[in-house]
Amino acid sequence: MADLDSFDVVVIGGGPAGYPAALRAAQNGLKVACIDEWKNRDGSGTFGGTCLNAGCIPSKALLESTELLHRAQHEFAAHGLNTQVTVDLAAMQRRRASIVKTMTGGILALFKAAGVVPLRGHGRLLQPGRVEYTADDGSVRTLVSKDVVLASGSVPTALRSAPFDGVAIIDSWSALELDAIPKRLGVIGAGVIGLELGSVWRRLGSEVVVLEALPDFLAIADSQLAKEALRQFRKLGLDIRLGARVSAAEVKDGAVAVTYSDASAADQTLTVDKLIVAIGRRPFTEGLLAPGSGVELDPRGFIIVDEQCRTGAARVWAVGDCVRGPMLAHKGKEEGVMVADLIAGRYGEVNYAAVPSVIYTAPEIAWVGATEQQVKASGRAYKVGVFPFAASGRARAMEATAGFVKLIAAADDDAILGVHIIGPLAGELVAEAVLAMEYSASAEDLQRTIHAHPTLSEGLHEAALAADKRAIDSINR
Ligand code: FAD
Ligand code: NAD
Repeated sequence: MADLDSFDVVVIGGGPAGYPAALRAAQNGLKVACIDEWKNRDGSGTFGGTCLNAGCIPSKALLESTELLHRAQHEFAAHGLNTQVTVDLAAMQRRRASIVKTMTGGILALFKAAGVVPLRGHGRLLQPGRVEYTADDGSVRTLVSKDVVLASGSVPTALRSAPFDGVAIIDSWSALELDAIPKRLGVIGAGVIGLELGSVWRRLGSEVVVLEALPDFLAIADSQLAKEALRQFRKLGLDIRLGARVSAAEVKDGAVAVTYSDASAADQTLTVDKLIVAIGRRPFTEGLLAPGSGVELDPRGFIIVDEQCRTGAARVWAVGDCVRGPMLAHKGKEEGVMVADLIAGRYGEVNYAAVPSVIYTAPEIAWVGATEQQVKASGRAYKVGVFPFAASGRARAMEATAGFVKLIAAADDDAILGVHIIGPLAGELVAEAVLAMEYSASAEDLQRTIHAHPTLSEGLHEAALAADKRAIDSINR
């Protein structure tokens, strides 16, 4: 066996779960290869998976650009700034593409520095310790590896009544790369992608209608937060229709006629120029496992793993979107790092109770821990503190007073059970709550921690104080 074909660890998949696993394994002194088959629309192959190429990074680039546009159009005047802004979509898209290129290129640089062998092409687990590698040029080799990490990610879920055609009915990747602003945009699914991409194109001028099957908006979030979010998104101009069941979508003369029913009427028609289907993602394992590999899938297609991401096959691990848990880049990253440390005989753990969620809209939405409805259902006595950003000097200075910080703590031992934020930079603010929960801080610990003034982070401080009706800068209720 050539030295080139023998490794301590082979990682299949170079997204945000796979590439950190490869890097940490190399940091641990192991000989590592990472196989990835991602192909961009121009046929080029890159590492970084969905997140860097078609997810987190390009969406945040466009969210940032269009939030600036929105602020210039709607907030600058309040600052006494008068300006006329025009949109150059091609330039905005070039910026998005260039950020992606820099970030994906960065992974190769990290691999090189750490000594990870990048292998472009397809990986298939033959059996524990054996991976078949088909390179982009079609050549096939069998790699021997003591440990194998599966990190094959996920793909968009298709909707039978509105199948993707890649032109008029599109997934989130295509929706990020549109070269013209659709006059009328439909989105099926008011989840994270629907809200982020709906916001992007609404700010650019599209009329956006979002059809959501559930009767409740953002059912996974704290209901007080979801209520405020719905108000804010409607204010932005997103036409969110709840309880909407799509039965058909017909593409004709470049437009899509969507048929749906909701509580108000059956068989309504919505005609749009583009239709984004964003109803969730499913684990991707096609061509990943040879018969008899020993790795099993659950009924929804996720690779079955234990708390430490071990599959049922000896020394085969699986991480990221292809296993249970939230489909989030940072969750996959921590799993990848944990597995690489466990392989090296080190300590590794993921605290699934403290995985933050962030929706990068404006106002931004972020939370960690339990919602109020979950705490109520658990039967545990609790207290709630809410601080509105309208009472924050910093938020006022930023012209960003919408939203609040809500903290839920146990009535008995004061443990922080959940923090829910809607407002400016919520995704940054929630990090303090995650750290507090990781360190088992109480609400009182937060109350007694000095927060700089005037900062948005005072909102968390005040919410903790409000939980005991001791807020200083807002009325205690
Ligand atoms: P992926 O990123 O899907 O990577 C898997 C890689 O494995 C791919 O490159 C794939 O080509 C490769 N692969 C699969 N099978 C094989 C094989 N057999 N051989 C070789 N290679 C293979 N999450 C966040 O946390 N924050 C965000 O802001 C965020 N924004 C998002 C926006 C959008 C529009 C989308 C679609 C997703 C977003 N996500 C976000 C989710 C995030 O992208 C995923 O959770 C994350 O990419 C999962 O990482 P992964 O490594 O498990 O899988
Ligand atoms: P999602 O699960 O967030 O939302 C899907 C929405 O579609 C839900 O509200 C669901 O009720 C609705 N839905 C399902 N079937 C439907 C139907 N037939 N008709 C109408 N509505 C229907 O999924 P998503 O928005 O597609 O995102 C996929 C994954 O990517 C998520 O798991 C998310 O965590 C991840 N993601 C994360 C971020 C972030 O962290 N900021 C951003 C984008 C995507």
